[in-house]
Amino acid sequence: MPYFLAYEQINELLAALSALGYRCLGPQVREGAIIFDDLKDADQLPWGLRDAQKPGYYRLEKSEETEAFAWANGPQAIKPLLFKPKESLWRVQKNAEGKYLFQETLPEHQPIALIGARACDLAAMQVQDKTLLTGQYTDAHYAWHRQHLLIVAVNCSYSSQNCFCVSTQTGPKATSGYDLALTEIEDGFVVEIGSEKGEALIHALACESATKKALEKAALRTQHAANMQSKRMPKNNSRALRDILMNNLNHPRWEEVAERCLSCGNCTSVCPTCFCHHQTETPTAQNDGSVHAREWDSCFTQGHSYIHGQVIRDTTEKRYKQWLTHKLGTWWDQFDTSGCVGCGRCITWCPVGIDLTEEMAAISGESNEKK
Ligand code: SF4
Ligand code: SF4
Repeated sequence: MPYFLAYEQINELLAALSALGYRCLGPQVREGAIIFDDLKDADQLPWGLRDAQKPGYYRLEKSEETEAFAWANGPQAIKPLLFKPKESLWRVQKNAEGKYLFQETLPEHQPIALIGARACDLAAMQVQDKTLLTGQYTDAHYAWHRQHLLIVAVNCSYSSQNCFCVSTQTGPKATSGYDLALTEIEDGFVVEIGSEKGEALIHALACESATKKALEKAALRTQHAANMQSKRMPKNNSRALRDILMNNLNHPRWEEVAERCLSCGNCTSVCPTCFCHHQTETPTAQNDGSVHAREWDSCFTQGHSYIHGQVIRDTTEKRYKQWLTHKLGTWWDQFDTSGCVGCGRCITWCPVGIDLTEEMAAISGESNEKK
């Protein structure tokens, strides 16, 4: 049974989460973009702002609506909270007898309550779960962060020009992976419960049941976001893209896109499913130990394909081909899913505006325009 959370109750929600020991993070404006930061009061939310996004373009604009979530997405998803840009994995220290002792360094911070994750962000988290939680090895650090994260998702009422989650079937409405999911309507939110933790929380707030009219308005909001999308991934992001890509490894389009691509790696940094990383070693000043850390890497760096004295992907063409054939193609072989959830971030934050749906349209021959 969905509930209704009035705008005035946002601070009650924050207080309830704090009382349970959570550090609340929510969307706020920082340096011209909406990112997740400590949220202590509803006034910090980006009220009345809209994000204009195009390939290689992101600007915040005042919107006619005075809503808190009238924007599509910012450069972050959930990834930086679960798979951190840099995180120490273990340390080694020499003891008084001269022996080296190795110790795992698991995270020790407060549990986090994230407010404002989008449907595509949840879908990306579930893709990362496949990579880092299931299979032969579990990533202990990712598992720790995952276990200590509560998610209050917000269904999209607006899409950006770069969103294409309808074609990837990952949005704009969250269907799983959340504790609570909100849909903003006039004066507040329709709230859906996704877990026992979410249920306990909403009962503690004494929210009223959502009226039939509120539910209809919420459904129209999500439909509005879906209708706004003008872009799509060819073949609806299906496994068919794998064979199309692998049968076109010598397509002339690779050379064309490589002429534009700067190999900067922005696309992989903002992509909520990318997981490539390298390991670093930082010795102590006394040289009696060191900290071993994991740091994000990108298939666009030269070093990422360095194997035994040789850079395997030594041209931008090879690196772009690796990014697209893995993300949309061989990811299916490894994880039985696509690596793309249609968030559009790699298009927005690419400094030269390369659009992967356009690249896929050129290679597949199927349009990337949503009818
Ligand atoms: S490939 Fe691009 S559109 Fe797809 S999930 Fe990654 S950032 Fe989003
Ligand atoms: S596709 Fe764009 S964001 Fe990605 S490496 Fe090339 S220039 Fe950078």
